[in-house]
Amino acid sequence: MKSYDVAIIGSGPGGYVAAIRCAQLGMKTAIIEKYSTLGGTCLNVGCIPSKALLSSSHHYEEATKHFEEHGIEIPGDIKVNLEKMIGRKQAVVDQTTGGIDFLMKKNNIDVFEGLGSFKDATHIKIEGKDAQEIEAKNIIVATGSKPSNLPFIKLDKERIITSTEALKLKEIPKHLIIIGGGVIGLELGQVYRRLGAEVTVVEFMDRILPTMDAGLSKELNKVFKKAKCKMMPSHKVQSVERNGDEVIVKAENKKGEVVEFKGDYCLVSVGRRPYTDGLNAEAAGVKINDRGQIEVNEHLQTSVSNIYAIGDVIKGAMLAHKAEEEGVFVAETLAGQKPHIDYNLIPGVVYTWPEVAAVGKTEEELKADNVAYKVGQFPFRALGRARASGDLDGFVKILADKTTDEVLGVHMIGARCADLIAEAVVAMEYRASAEDISRMSHAHPTFAEAVKEAALAATEDRALHV
Ligand code: FAD
Repeated sequence: MKSYDVAIIGSGPGGYVAAIRCAQLGMKTAIIEKYSTLGGTCLNVGCIPSKALLSSSHHYEEATKHFEEHGIEIPGDIKVNLEKMIGRKQAVVDQTTGGIDFLMKKNNIDVFEGLGSFKDATHIKIEGKDAQEIEAKNIIVATGSKPSNLPFIKLDKERIITSTEALKLKEIPKHLIIIGGGVIGLELGQVYRRLGAEVTVVEFMDRILPTMDAGLSKELNKVFKKAKCKMMPSHKVQSVERNGDEVIVKAENKKGEVVEFKGDYCLVSVGRRPYTDGLNAEAAGVKINDRGQIEVNEHLQTSVSNIYAIGDVIKGAMLAHKAEEEGVFVAETLAGQKPHIDYNLIPGVVYTWPEVAAVGKTEEELKADNVAYKVGQFPFRALGRARASGDLDGFVKILADKTTDEVLGVHMIGARCADLIAEAVVAMEYRASAEDISRMSHAHPTFAEAVKEAALAATEDRALHV
């Protein structure tokens, strides 16, 4: 029987990053993945394929709607070849997952293909291609998550689908009904809207992106409405039925009336659930809570001291970079180091266009915590760079402590915000004040100037270009 210092179950961004860091720190490491490709949800059916389709559809929209204003004329019709677009997405995925194979080899990590389940706290049974039993002193569970569903919806995966199927459709829907106005629903909704589908977003809460700053939701809602998406907040879905090629969604509005939507595809994007099916956690004594998450303490240690859990399968934001931080954290803990993660500084990003990004506290949270704060906000349309490219929507909002001026939260919507948020993370990690940011030189003309201007606005209303 092969024996390891550490064995990791699941090869998503949590698992494979943990494996690399364990190997770097000199541990004999194994990783077990039930699918034939490494990389988990993120690389195979999540972050990477969705961004590939967002990029392709963005190019199409630019070509059909904006090239002309830039003086670019294309003779003849511009058409979408969906098969080719999906094929390109798959090539990006294959290249990226292949890169993880390379990293595993480079770091001398043993990869086992098969379903891993606990025999006891130090033994894992692998069923599948590389069937065998292995032994490990420490085990990291990184089994991730799967799409959740509403109990009354029967997902047929043809027309009533999850994000996984939405990433490989064979035709552009005529009318895509999306249940859930969260990150995944909005990103995929924008992809198919750009490609010509009619899109309806049905959301239970009173706004899209309900966990983000309300100002961001409002601005993105405006963008979706401008693109002629039908936005239906405060609608509680009651039933989803299929009738041939038609999908009928019934939802109750605030007045108690039942509203009916008819489309040809329905994307159910109501969140994700932690995934522990087949893991046999009980055999090792690992506790799972009533939300299906593996319970961990502040060291990410489960109820069994040599077994750790990271990523989507535990509490906290279901994000690839959060899983990665936790993978490094556990590896370094096992090596006797004292790592630290500040969960308040894990940024959240929506890769629509304009992009939405945030870190730290929202105004709603600061109010609830009775923290006195001030706001500095700056619109992208006032920037030369935004006018040059024609990306005028959005703003940067900085929330700073009223007395100390420390930055407590940064919320932004606009071009390239997914990258701009990194500046806010660095600033907050070093506990910068809004004035600190406002006194740093930002290259001109850039979108990043909106961050500096918002910081100027937060400190005695000193913004220069409004
Ligand atoms: P996962 O990536 O889910 O990996 C878990 C792995 O464990 C899987 O490969 C699974 O097959 C394997 N596994 C499970 N059980 C077993 C077992 N018993 N034996 C062997 N193997 C097992 N996050 C972002 O930060 N940015 C984004 O832009 C983003 N976009 C997304 C878009 C979509 C459409 C979706 C669905 C998700 C997106 N996410 C994004 C979320 C992100 O994918 C997850 O947060 C991330 O993948 C979680 O990583 P993980 O390592 O915890 O688990």
